[in-house]
Formats: sequence, C-alpha cells, structure tokens
Amino acid sequence: MQMQTSPIETEIDRAKDRFALYGPAIMADRDFPGLVAQYREAIQATHRLMQELQVVALCSRCANTASGSCCAREVETWYDDWLLFINLLLGVPLDTVREAHDHCLFVGANGCKLIARHSFCVNFLCPEILSALTPSDKEKLLAASGAELYAGWILEQRLRQWLNHNAGRDED
Ligand code: SF4
Ligand code: SF4
Repeated sequence: MQMQTSPIETEIDRAKDRFALYGPAIMADRDFPGLVAQYREAIQATHRLMQELQVVALCSRCANTASGSCCAREVETWYDDWLLFINLLLGVPLDTVREAHDHCLFVGANGCKLIARHSFCVNFLCPEILSALTPSDKEKLLAASGAELYAGWILEQRLRQWLNHNAGRDED
C-alpha cells in the first residue's frame, strides 16, 4: 500500500527541490552568505538571551514531563517551502522522521531541530514563562525576537527576488 504524503512533507520536498536546483548558485552569490550569516547571528542572539533568562532551562524541564512541550502537531502545517528552504541554506537536513508522537514533526530529542522558525515559534511564551519574566526581560526578548524575524524576512525577500530573476515565474 502506498503511503500518503503529508502536507508538510510536500512542503519539504518543494524546499529540497529548490535547494538542489539553486542552493549552490545562491550561496555563491556575492550577497547571500552575508545575509544568511546575519540571520543566523540574530537567531543565536535570541537563543543566548533565552538561556540567560532561564527560558531554555524551563522549556527543557517542561519537555521532559508527561504532558510534553507546547510544540503541537498543528504548528508544522504553518511552515511553508520558503522557510524550509532557508533552513536548508542554514544547514538543517530536514529529515521527515517524527520523533515525538502527536507533536510537531520538527521536535527532536534536544528540542526544535529547525534553525529558521515561524514567528509563532519565535514569539510564543506560555503563561508559566511569562510569569517568571520581569517586564524588562520581556521587552529584551521582544526586541531580540523582532530582530530575528526581521533578518529572516529580509533574507526571504531577497531570495524571492533572486529566484524570480534567475528562475522565472514558477518560483513566485
Ligand atoms: S513555552 Fe511553556 S509550555 Fe512551551 S515548552 Fe516552554 S515551558 Fe513548556
Ligand atoms: S519550535 Fe520547532 S518543534 Fe516546536 S512547534 Fe515550532 S517548529 Fe515545531
């Protein structure tokens, strides 16, 4: 019996096809290595802040409880081929093995396996985390996640322009 491809697997296939066709040319372009590096640095800055504020520790403890993390299965359906393509540019292999039953496809043993994440994943803080943060910590986190999302948005716009120019209308 043939296994049906899930919506997220279709998006992953599209991202991988685009990466196979254009990934090397994009990374050989004068501008993209720098834009990818800026995005990676913004992501790392958010993560460092989350570590400093003990958010990472709280989430790790939570993920190891019976109820598990807040990474619901539905969230994977919000990822499109562009964000997945950017993950490939960042070196994420995007395997399709579900490690946590009834949770998002991208949950791994050490948390999220993606580097470029959806705005929901970047911004979400549950009530427990929110109550553990001071107003000034929340502001710092908001600023860091905003800078991360902005760097990702800039990169995606530039990639779309590059592909429209170099690959034609099928990449709209
Ligand atoms: S955000 Fe809250 S619910 Fe989600 S993993 Fe962290 S502690 Fe758990
Ligand atoms: S943070 Fe990662 S594992 Fe969690 S819902 Fe978002 S993409 Fe899925």
